[in-house]
Parts: sequence; C-alpha cells; structure tokens
Amino acid sequence: MKKDDCIFCKIAAGEIPSKTIYEDELFRVILDLGPATKGHALILPKDHADNLFKLPDDTAGKVLVLAKKLATQMKEKLGCDGLNLVQNNGEEAGQTVKHFHMHMIPRYKNDGQRIGWKPGEPTQDELESIKNQMIG
Ligand code: AMP
Ligand code: ZN
Repeated sequence: MKKDDCIFCKIAAGEIPSKTIYEDELFRVILDLGPATKGHALILPKDHADNLFKLPDDTAGKVLVLAKKLATQMKEKLGCDGLNLVQNNGEEAGQTVKHFHMHMIPRYKNDGQRIGWKPGEPTQDELESIKNQMIG
C-alpha cells in the first residue's frame, strides 16, 4: 500500500524520477541525492512501512538478500573496498524520511567518511542489568 503524502512511495512507484539502479515487484533501489560516497544507494520497498518496526517479516528478509546481491555488484562494478549497511528508525536515530529504507554505502580506501559512534564504557553490572531487561 502507498501512503499519499510520502515522497519515497512516489519515488518507489516511479511517479517521481530517480536514478534507479535496480527494480523488481517489491523494491526500487535508487541513488541517494546526498551521497556519503560514490554509489550510495537506498533500498526502498514499494509498499509503505514507516520503519523497521512496521516492516512485514517477509519484506525484512528480502531486503537483506537484495542488499547482498547489490553489494556484490557494487564491488564488481564500482570497485569499492568495503560497504556499510545503515538503517535508521525514528527521529532519535536520525531517520529523516519516514518510509523504511536501507542505505547501502560503498566504501573506498581513504574516502574520508566515518560511520560510527562514541564507544561507551559500561560496567559488568550495567551490562548484566541490560541483559536481564532484554531476556526477562
Ligand atoms: P535517513 O536520514 O536515514 O532518513 O535518510 C534519508 C536519505 O534520503 C538521505 O541520505 C537523503 O540524502 C536521501 N534523500 C532524501 N530525498 C531524496 C530523494 N528525493 N532522492 C534520493 N535520495 C533522497
Ligand atoms: Zn512511503
């Protein structure tokens, strides 16, 4: 299902032009307009889901299979040395477009980009408590 006011629904449906590098019944994969690196692409499901929490299991599984296929092509055709998959859910996590998308960011030696976080320094007790929250 499409959502009327969603730009990625319109792009995925082909109603707004995009640089499409792959398309099938379920997905369109486009080049990001503000790429982190050469070849930065976005996997867009054609059916609207706000984020990972709302994504049907079947689609979720297929996203990673498609990412693997395209990653291989990026390595072969763009000559990338590595690749980051990034997927943001919710404003707090940096999601700016509220239609699920998986970033595929090819990485090149000395590309000057950095995708990361500041590592915390939890105590063993803190880790134990989080573990118990998760499995309790
Ligand atoms: P996120 O912050 O994870 O929601 O990522 C949104 C991404 O969509 C950003 O990397 C934008 O550069 C990209 N973006 C936004 N609008 C468009 C568009 N019309 N076509 C291609 N990429 C877009
Ligand atoms: Zn949408």
